[in-house]
Amino acid sequence: MAQNVIEVADDVFLGRGTDVNWILLRDGDAVTLIDAGYPGDAGRLEASLRALGRRPEDVRAILLTHAHIDHLGGAAQLARRYGTPVYTDAREAAHVRREHLEQAGPMDLAANLWRPTLWPWLGRVLRVGAAKNARIPSAQPFAASGALDLPGRPVPVPTRGHTSGHTAYHLPDVGAVVTGDELVTGHAVTGHVGPHTLPAFFNSGDPVTALAAIETLDADLVLPGHGDALRRPIAEAVAEARDHARR
Ligand SMILES: [Zn+2]
Repeated sequence: MAQNVIEVADDVFLGRGTDVNWILLRDGDAVTLIDAGYPGDAGRLEASLRALGRRPEDVRAILLTHAHIDHLGGAAQLARRYGTPVYTDAREAAHVRREHLEQAGPMDLAANLWRPTLWPWLGRVLRVGAAKNARIPSAQPFAASGALDLPGRPVPVPTRGHTSGHTAYHLPDVGAVVTGDELVTGHAVTGHVGPHTLPAFFNSGDPVTALAAIETLDADLVLPGHGDALRRPIAEAVAEARDHARR
């Protein structure tokens, strides 16, 4: 299997883009994709599908944790090229369609240029389209609540904080939770390894309060938007992230 995709549980795979992850849930021939990297990660995304023996046409749906460019870039291309449906929280779907934008802009980045870690990161992500204006006009809200009728049977969990419609996905069958950017285990800009929330300029709300929505889930595998998969009870990972935010 290619290095940019790891099987983290039965039929659950973590794919790596440029400083960002996506998750693939395989069920027979079909796949659910959760998040999709930067626009320039589209080649890596297709390679990760091929590594599972699947093609872009096999993706039944793309679920987004939120509408930041590093999570929706590859999804915009799949949706355009293959007509793949894209679903997320109702509030976030408007963000995916770019009816509004909640994302760190040039001024936020300028105010953070004192961070020595920001420069090399910015260089990498600009090369894969971080400043591009991607949007997905066809993005829709989930049709119903509870487990989705898709490969992997993911259950959306509203975690409004990082963005105002951010969604985590619980995978009860394998005891995992896809935390998106509400809780990460590593990020080039923070330079921290371990469960934590992102610095304020990346968030439109308060990610720390949103952690309450995931901490009681039955899960001992954390699959974050940034950083490595972490084998630890979610309640412990949340406690550590809260602790880190207080420091
Ligand atoms: Zn984000």
